[in-house]
Amino acid sequence: MSLPSSLPPSGDPRPARTLVFRDHQLLVDLAATPTAGPDSWRAGLVALRTLDFPVTTGEAWTVVEVERTIEAPDGHAFQHLKSLLDTLDGETLALAARALELLEFDRAHRFCGACGAPTTLRTDPPARRCSAPDCGREHFPRVSPVVIVAVERGAEILLGRSPHFPPGLYSTLAGFVDAGESAEQAVHREIFEETGLRIRAPRYFSSQAWPFPHALMLGYQAEYAGGDIVCAPGEIEDARFFHVDALPPLFPIRYAMANQLLRDFCLRHGRPWPPAQATPAAA
Ligand SMILES: [Zn+2]
Repeated sequence: MSLPSSLPPSGDPRPARTLVFRDHQLLVDLAATPTAGPDSWRAGLVALRTLDFPVTTGEAWTVVEVERTIEAPDGHAFQHLKSLLDTLDGETLALAARALELLEFDRAHRFCGACGAPTTLRTDPPARRCSAPDCGREHFPRVSPVVIVAVERGAEILLGRSPHFPPGLYSTLAGFVDAGESAEQAVHREIFEETGLRIRAPRYFSSQAWPFPHALMLGYQAEYAGGDIVCAPGEIEDARFFHVDALPPLFPIRYAMANQLLRDFCLRHGRPWPPAQATPAAA
């Protein structure tokens, strides 16, 4: 168990920027810009953990985790990173996602998974090293790949809803890539397991980090090839093909890969985005 550490003193030329997290919530100012908080607030703050890490630009960043009981200073707020996905610029979002994933990695790998001995943090590159002389194994942050698939049938797209979605909300289907499986194999398997449908010609679309806690979303587009929809009990409450002019309420985060896939689908069919009838559902 590492000792709590104080935040870097104000005026310290390093790090260039500091992100402060309270659980999954990022400290932002009134303009929803990440901030280390005012000096007066920082002065008395004790951090649960502080990680310094470099980025490819060479600029050093620090991420600080504080107790859940810590209140934001006046004019600031702790906001869940999910609620900031559509607000932060791409570079800041990438760093915030990385910071959150590294905090989670650091929290979950305090002990060696091979021998159970305590580990120590190494930050460049991020890793935790086993302290046992006869082991010494290094543990690195892992990401969990998830395929998320837009299955299209002409001007229709396959959307489904899981039992824990807000009422009325539908999204493209997704699932984790299994060990030993390619992303394309996962695309075929997930769609078949969740809906009983066969698809063809899966095409890679784009990817994005989804740090809740450490997913890498791999967006795919595919064509319907056959079968009738049979929803997987307990996993998919409903799935159906929706016409481009009759889309249901969609996932409320524009950044989310599901909406990137749907945006591409709508624009290719000459429809505006977002579609007027598909108002975002409540989160
Ligand atoms: Zn070990």
